[in-house]
Amino acid sequence: MENITASEIAGFGVGTLLLCATIAAPKVDAFISASQRSSLGMCKRCGDLRMIACSRCRGTGLIKANGPFSFNLIDDLYKSFASAELKVKSIGCTKCQARGHFSCPDCSNIPKV
Ligand SMILES: [Zn+2]
Ligand SMILES: [Zn+2]
Repeated sequence: MENITASEIAGFGVGTLLLCATIAAPKVDAFISASQRSSLGMCKRCGDLRMIACSRCRGTGLIKANGPFSFNLIDDLYKSFASAELKVKSIGCTKCQARGHFSCPDCSNIPKV
């Protein structure tokens, strides 16, 4: 009786540990990859891609112009610029100059060999 109880407790403990490890795995993986990047000399910010996706246009280089303030301006712009796309009002992202990404400031400051 006591043996069974002990093994049950041990099994429960191992099961709990495995469960915790499974739940924590993504976080641990992210932590390890971040530390691996720095230990490998890779850029923490971009992972040596040397570019960062624009947060404003989410990397597309275009933003939807549905704001009430810019509506008339965009409408006029598109009447003379792209009449075929009047229904989808999207303009080049001003934050990234419609490129969809920036060059990584960390990498651009460090001359790479
Ligand atoms: Zn952008
Ligand atoms: Zn970088």
